[in-house]
Amino acid sequence: MSFESLGLAPTLLSALEAAGFSAPTPVQAAAIPQALAGHDLMVSSQTGSGKTAAFMLPALNRVAKQPANKGSGVQVLVLTPTRELAMQVNDATRIYGRNIADLRTTIVVGGMPYGAQLKALSRRVDVLVATPGRLLDHLQAGRVKLNTVHTLVLDEADRMLDMGFIEDIETILARLPAERQTLLFSATLDGSVARLAAKMMREPQRIEI
Ligand code: AMP
Repeated sequence: MSFESLGLAPTLLSALEAAGFSAPTPVQAAAIPQALAGHDLMVSSQTGSGKTAAFMLPALNRVAKQPANKGSGVQVLVLTPTRELAMQVNDATRIYGRNIADLRTTIVVGGMPYGAQLKALSRRVDVLVATPGRLLDHLQAGRVKLNTVHTLVLDEADRMLDMGFIEDIETILARLPAERQTLLFSATLDGSVARLAAKMMREPQRIEI
């Protein structure tokens, strides 16, 4: 199995080569083709499995294929439970997206000063990585719009629910286009995660590695 055979754009393949990734991990091999085919996905995955690339590569593939969309608003929104995870996802996005011309990624998280976030949000953003509470602050103040998002990622969805973010997530979801792709990653896919998925996803494919 190679990254080439998964159907990713050349700009992503060259970035993976530069990062020294020679072959997809099991979760990447299972999730990337399904995501590229346009399905909503519920994926059970652990940290260290390569889950970040499993959602970010298909998300960036769409950005890379539709360069004319750049500048029209946020295309990819990733919600994470913590600031640390958001920073990791943002760093990974820069690595995987390094050969996409003028890709703009921004992070909006709680516990950090507003100033830099306001400045970043006043400029073009293609990929936004955020924790739910702080994103909601910015949304309600009208500083960010999410009506152009084509790909929503919920990373570590079970942790976000455990941390009490369900209402924030539902309010954010109401601001997203109904016509979008949703990729949910979580250690468990049962209980409250399954209920959230049933409300916000369309015929999701379940991937359990
Ligand atoms: P994650 O599970 O997304 O936190 O990724 C765990 C670590 O694996 C990160 O340091 C990635 O850079 C690395 N990684 C992800 N996919 C691959 C791959 N296909 N080949 C080699 N390393 C990878």
